[in-house]
Amino acid sequence: MEPEPEISMLVQEIINCKLCPRLVEYRAEVARKKVRRFRDFEYWGRPLPGFGDLNARLLIVGLAPAAHGGNRTGRMFTGDSSGDWLIKALYETGFANQPVSRYKDDGLKLIDCYVTAVARCAPPKNKPLRSELINCQRYLIREFEILRNIKAILTLGRISFDWTLRALNILYGLDRRYIHFRHGVAYDLRGLGKRLFVSYHPSRQNTQTGRLTWDMWIKVFRSIRSYLDGVG
Ligand code: SF4
Repeated sequence: MEPEPEISMLVQEIINCKLCPRLVEYRAEVARKKVRRFRDFEYWGRPLPGFGDLNARLLIVGLAPAAHGGNRTGRMFTGDSSGDWLIKALYETGFANQPVSRYKDDGLKLIDCYVTAVARCAPPKNKPLRSELINCQRYLIREFEILRNIKAILTLGRISFDWTLRALNILYGLDRRYIHFRHGVAYDLRGLGKRLFVSYHPSRQNTQTGRLTWDMWIKVFRSIRSYLDGVG
């Protein structure tokens, strides 16, 4: 099957998913109560599928939608500060057509890049439970199967790193013993023809404390750009 119908089916499945009762309740409650600054906004309040270029060579894996970001706007990394960092870096390195991501229909197009996450529903305190990550793992595995041109994978934060490796292990039997979580490192995934890039998550907690600076962040994207330009 071509990637387009396959991804459309997957998107519908994700949007209608109710596998995690705690998250089903939380995402709807956030959408109902809202926050004052977005009180006039119609929240999405459902799971979020990935988005981007189906022929992408770069796959970016985040953690989960933000309660008042993606859970509000209906698109990952859209309408929150993590999205501001991600899309600006993608734009500066030629993976996006514009530097901002504010609304679902704001004209943003990802170029050679697809963005997804290890959990598709906003979790309380940005912390999905292990059981919820297990439930959601099936969707990342399907994306790996559908997106056949992936050459570079960027994980954002420890949870994304762990659960992306788990998906690659399930799919391809990846041996992860030589792979360690540290910002800015990259690994050639033996036998898979893909390189894994590791970064801290651009959450406020990291960017406002200086744990992740703009220089550290943009360097990761420049390395990915050089790598992909080299592999052709
Ligand atoms: S987190 Fe994933 S598995 Fe759980 S309800 Fe949301 S979409 Fe479904």
